[in-house]
Order: sequence, then structure tokens, then C-alpha cells
Amino acid sequence: MTFSPVSASPPLLEMQGLQKSFAGVKALDNASLTVGAAEVHALIGQNGAGKSTLIKVLTGAYQRDAGTVTFAGQPVAFGSPLAAQRGGIATIYQEVNLVPLRTVAENIFLGREPRRYGLLQRPVMNREAERLLGELGLTVDVTQPLSSYSTAIQQMVALARAVSINARLVIMDEPTSSLNEREVETLFGVIRGLKARGVSVIFVSHRLDELYAVCDRITVMRDGRTVYAGDLKDISRLELVEQMLGRQLRSETRQTGFVRSGAGGQVLLQASGVTHGARLRNAAVEVRTGEVVGLAGLLGSGRSELARVIFGADQPDAGEMRLAGQPVQLRSPSDAIAAGLGFCSEDRKAEGIIPELSVRENLTLALLPRLARAGVVDPHRQAQVVADFIARLGIKTSGPDQPIRELSGGNQQKVLLARWLAMQPKLLILDEPTRGIDVGAKAEIQQLIGQLAQEGLGVLMISSELEELIEGCHQVTVLRDGQTVARLEGEGLNEPQILHAMAQGSAQDTVHP
Ligand code: ADP
Ligand code: MG
Repeated sequence: MTFSPVSASPPLLEMQGLQKSFAGVKALDNASLTVGAAEVHALIGQNGAGKSTLIKVLTGAYQRDAGTVTFAGQPVAFGSPLAAQRGGIATIYQEVNLVPLRTVAENIFLGREPRRYGLLQRPVMNREAERLLGELGLTVDVTQPLSSYSTAIQQMVALARAVSINARLVIMDEPTSSLNEREVETLFGVIRGLKARGVSVIFVSHRLDELYAVCDRITVMRDGRTVYAGDLKDISRLELVEQMLGRQLRSETRQTGFVRSGAGGQVLLQASGVTHGARLRNAAVEVRTGEVVGLAGLLGSGRSELARVIFGADQPDAGEMRLAGQPVQLRSPSDAIAAGLGFCSEDRKAEGIIPELSVRENLTLALLPRLARAGVVDPHRQAQVVADFIARLGIKTSGPDQPIRELSGGNQQKVLLARWLAMQPKLLILDEPTRGIDVGAKAEIQQLIGQLAQEGLGVLMISSELEELIEGCHQVTVLRDGQTVARLEGEGLNEPQILHAMAQGSAQDTVHP
């Protein structure tokens, strides 16, 4: 007989059958959430899944339409976030709700400073603040203004405050999206400190690696429903993404695997002996039609430089390039575009989207000359192309006239992809196509890339994510110090081989095509 960890002791929080509509739109439709005592619980789901609404219903920011909530053994229905806080539930927001110019200690004890005969006992307050932060593994000068610390530290001061008000449950809605790696580590230390004190934490995030580092259990929401709840150790990342998206990704992976084992088309691009300054020394890569080729390597290995040379943005000192078997010399990106190449650069913000322009304008930017007749753009054809791509790529937008800056990162990336696809390229170069995109949109874009290849497009994809390279590519070319040191495919395409080649592949491994 087995016992689930939650049934061992009564849960701290139990939400069941939650319903909430806004003007007829169901934001929650039979959502549930159970959190045990001293448990770090991940709440995940795509944008719009209902996570924030569920949290707000719990903390009294919204009133539920139906459902039951039990907290610490009592049925509850908090009338406001303040009431929830008094009841032992604290919510930490990204914008910390404290007083920046007061000291750290003052912020922790705001409104309940230790006093004697009406006088503030500053040394007592400072000592107490230091002790609290110390228990959470944080050493800061509590006499300094809060504003002198980073957002991360400010969030942790807010956490300390919550704990000192006897919160039994702390909720963090996407706390790490603005934190750097070091700050995330510190935050995780604090979360572990909270757990050790018996406090439970609900952690809303879409960065899966983080969840595995710090969470015990997980609840997945989709379209306002709870679709999965269980121990995090029982579910793989792939399964989590499948739960979030509500469809199987495995079958697509298998399709790619099928192509991988030998269905490659004709050689589309052959670059060899490419040398450029000190960054590229004898780099080579080959892409066939219908093939996704990954370009792997450590930072500074020459991946982006090779892509720029192939796209005609830089002129090589030496080397040969062939397209469909014919030697070519691309002297500029417009040469490359005319030859059937496209390039989605790594920096979406700097080189890609134009935030002030609409989805339609961003999408058809490169295509405009082709849509024009005697210099005049045919608005009907433009509208048609835009509508087609919005539908085909599943771009989530209120319409073609919406400014692109209002779209999520993933949807902006899809517009950029569409911009190039509209040009009907034969070869598309993608530099880190899924960096900084939430996990749902990421899986969609990866799937889309595989699909485009199946339709015959050749793809050269730079990626720093091994999983993306292994699952999404037919072949991976590894660069080190500006040289091609390995070309991996089939059974040889796996994590240890890529890592080995990136880090220490010897000169003997160098591939000469
Ligand atoms: P998540 O936090 O998972 O991204 P939300 O809870 O914010 O999702 O949103 C769930 C759904 O409810 C979305 O379709 C959203 O548009 C809708 N929604 C959320 N809050 C409101 C509101 N105050 N008014 C109208 N619709 C809302
Ligand atoms: Mg949200």
C-alpha cells in the first residue's frame, strides 16, 4: 500500500471546484489546488491558463463564483488581500510594495515597530531584522535604505516581512523573471529557509529548470482547469510541457527521428574552409533540403560569425560556399536573400522587430517590394498574406493592426519567422530562435521548425540548448575556436558527444568535407 505525501498529514490548503468568469469568459473552470505543509509547490501553465486568477481568488483580490477553499483546516473566503494576509497568506509581487527610502529593518517592521513608552527601539528592531534575514540565509546591512538594494534583495526583504507576520503560505507569482542567475540562487536559498521553518510556498513560474531545483510538487493548469497534480519527481520536463499544451510532443519528435535516419534531400548549402579574422578558422557546414542542422559550440566558438558569413553580412578571408552545388559569392544580405536565404538574428529587439509598428507591418517588412506594383503596395494581397501567416503559425494577436510590442516574446518571434517565410526561402538561418520565450511558445516554435523542414525547407539553427539540438535537429555541427570539430547524426547525436566536442574535441576530430 502506498501513501501520497499529502494524505500523510492534512494539507495546509485545499481548493476545489473553483469557477470564475469575467463578463462571460471562463477564467477558471473547475480548477483545484492542494498544497501540503512545508511544501514548495509549483503552479504552471501557459499564458492565460488561469494561474493568476486562481491566486487572486485565493487571496481575496477576486471573489469566486463557485468552489471551496480550506486553509489550515478552516473553510475560508477572504474578502481582500489584507484579510488573507491576516489569515496567514502572503503574496510577494515583483514590484515590491514597501517603502524604498526607509531602511531594510524599518520595512520589515513597518506598522508594528518595537516601542517602549511610545519610543521606537531602533537597536532592538535592527537586531531582530538581522536575525530574521540571517535565518533565511541573507546577510544585508539592515540600516541601509531598501532602495540601495537590488530588486531581488527587495523581494527577499518582503519575504522576511511576510514570515515575521506569521505567514504560513507565501505566494510568488513569477518572482524570478527579472532576476539574474545569482539572485535566483539566493532566492532559492531563502525558499529552502522558509520550508525549513514550516512555511509553504506557491511558486508560479514558467522556467522549468528552476522548478526542478526548488519545488516538491506541481499543479499544471490549462484553459482554466487543473489538468495535472503530483510530485515533481514523477514527471519529466517533456511530459510537463505536454500537459501544459494539451497535446503529445513525442509523436512529432519521432517524425523528426524518422527523417533523421536518412530521408535527407539534396545538398542545399555547402560551406567549407571558412576563415574570417581570428574568429573563424576553417569552419564547415552542410545543410540538405528538409533538414534541420544545429550549430553547437560554446560562447565565442564562432557560431554567429559563421552564420553572418553565410548570409553575406561579413566577407570571409578564405573558404568556399556552394548553393545547390553551384559556387556562390554573397557580397551582402540582399545577395543572400535573392539567392533564397533568410536569417532570424539572435537579438529580436535590436535587429528584428520594430516595436512601434503593427503586426502586419512587421510581418511584411521584407516582402513589401514584392507586394508592390509600380511602387504601390497592393493592400489586398498584403492583408491576405498577413492573415494566412497569423493562422498558419498560430500567432496570438487581437489583429494585424495590433502594435507588435504588445505581443508576448513567443508571438513576436513567430511574426519574425513569418516575415522570412513570406519570402519563401530555401534555407533559413535561425540564431537562438527560442531564447527568452516561455516554455509553451517555445515548444510550438520548435514544432513549427520541424514542420517547415518536412515541407522541404533547409534550416541552420544556432542553439545553446542541448535538448533543443538533440530533439530538434537531424544533424549537429559543432564549432570550437572557429573550427568545425564534429558533425553528429543518428545514434551519435547525443548529449555526451556534443559536450565532448564543444569542450575538448581534439584537432584530429576536425571534419574536412
Ligand atoms: P495566467 O496567470 O495563467 O497567465 P490569468 O489568470 O491571468 O492567466 O488569465 C486567465 C484568463 O482570464 C485569461 O483569458 C484572461 O484574459 C482572463 N482574465 C484574467 N483576469 C481578467 C479580468 N480582470 N478581466 C477579464 N478577463 C480576465
Ligand atoms: Mg499570470
